[in-house]
Amino acid sequence: MLLSAPGRGPILSFDFPLSRSAAQARLAEFLPYAGEAYAKHRNEERGQGQHHAVSRLSAALRRRLVSESEIAEAVVRMHGAGPAGKFIGELYWRTYWKGWLEQHPSVWRDWRRACARWAEQGLPEGYSAAIEGRTGIDAFDAWARELRETGYLHNWARMQFASIWIFTLRLPWELGAAFTFRHFVDADAASNTLSWRWVAGLHTSGKAYLADAERIRVQTGGRFDPKGLALTADVPRETCTAEPGRIRTPTAPDLRLPALLLLTPEDLSLETEAHLEVLDVRRVVACRVHCSRAADLAAVADGLQRASTHWGVRALWVDDMEAVLAVAQAEGAGQIVTGYAPVGPIADSLAAYREGTRIAEHRRAWDEQAWPYCRKGYFALAQHIPALLGAAALAPLPA
Ligand SMILES: Cc1cc2nc3c(=O)[nH]c(=O)nc-3n(C[C@H](O)[C@H](O)[C@H](O)COP(=O)(O)OP(=O)(O)OC[C@H]3O[C@@H](n4cnc5c(N)ncnc54)[C@H](O)[C@@H]3O)c2cc1C
Repeated sequence: MLLSAPGRGPILSFDFPLSRSAAQARLAEFLPYAGEAYAKHRNEERGQGQHHAVSRLSAALRRRLVSESEIAEAVVRMHGAGPAGKFIGELYWRTYWKGWLEQHPSVWRDWRRACARWAEQGLPEGYSAAIEGRTGIDAFDAWARELRETGYLHNWARMQFASIWIFTLRLPWELGAAFTFRHFVDADAASNTLSWRWVAGLHTSGKAYLADAERIRVQTGGRFDPKGLALTADVPRETCTAEPGRIRTPTAPDLRLPALLLLTPEDLSLETEAHLEVLDVRRVVACRVHCSRAADLAAVADGLQRASTHWGVRALWVDDMEAVLAVAQAEGAGQIVTGYAPVGPIADSLAAYREGTRIAEHRRAWDEQAWPYCRKGYFALAQHIPALLGAAALAPLPA
């Protein structure tokens, strides 16, 4: 569906780049707006098909069709580290959630278990009305419909949606997270689960996020006038007090061993990593079980094509990990090389095969350098951003 967008031309209502070239084109188109304009307008929620003030790069970034460092480099080059600070800070929120979950993997497992319990015991009253957008709360209902139709919600809408779900509709946050995880085109184990926990007051001790009717009216340009929102949030007394665990150390790719390259939606631009240039790749494969949604299939198909051209080998789709092992054996590959799988469904799938198989994971410098600072609150990471950008040669180190 074509929608008109004042000043910026018509856009598609469902326009999330799912190939590397489309992501690069989106980045180029958005770059002029990633500096002061982003800082000023990013929280304005303009409605379905009108989210021009934000990049809508999340579906591509989540699959690393483009990487954080490529995006940060382009934004800093155009605007300078200061004016680009707000956008870079948001990129690092993604990194923060990934690094935090990596060091608290039980939070992911507990969420999965809670969802399984709800599936067994039956869904609570009010759940169907919420997911179908029939609650009578205008903003919430519109966002529920937008999410189902497009796979996307603006960040600010996600915060209001989660807050109304938890504090006004009094539905379990775990089920809300399951609903958005199912529908987001950028569904990410860390950003989704941990953002819901943050809204619910489970991440920062004594702090929850309460949606406010007047702010919704203002931020949505008067499109909505939500009635009956909760005026207080029951902040849970218990946040996650578990001490952060160690970051998993993956087996690194061995550049001397023949490799089967396994592409998953965790990293679809491995050919851009200079370190892997000389890898002896015998075949590139992708596994259908790792692609739970149409967007994954589209993005992985694009990744396969690029990797196949880059390493000059044939690409192959297989059904499952057993088939991946069989191809590795047939090709005489001593290792299966893949992008690092952080805590989430792909890591769960690979875990069962790590024993007895050399699964080597390439972890990007961006994560290696930032994750050690993602043990507690975001601001412990934020204060290192200038140094992290400096280490990545994207901006000068602070004096
Ligand atoms: C309840 C809830 C659930 C969420 N679930 C997801 C999810 O499953 N997957 C996901 O990628 N993001 C999630 N987010 C974060 C954020 O809403 C999206 O990343 C953002 O809306 C994507 O739109 P964009 O690409 O236009 O963002 P932009 O504003 O253009 O930001 C650029 C990039 O920075 C990252 N980013 C921006 N804001 C955040 C944030 N608050 N947290 C983490 N990363 C951020 C994203 O990768 C994004 O693509 C969630 C937020 C909330 C409140």
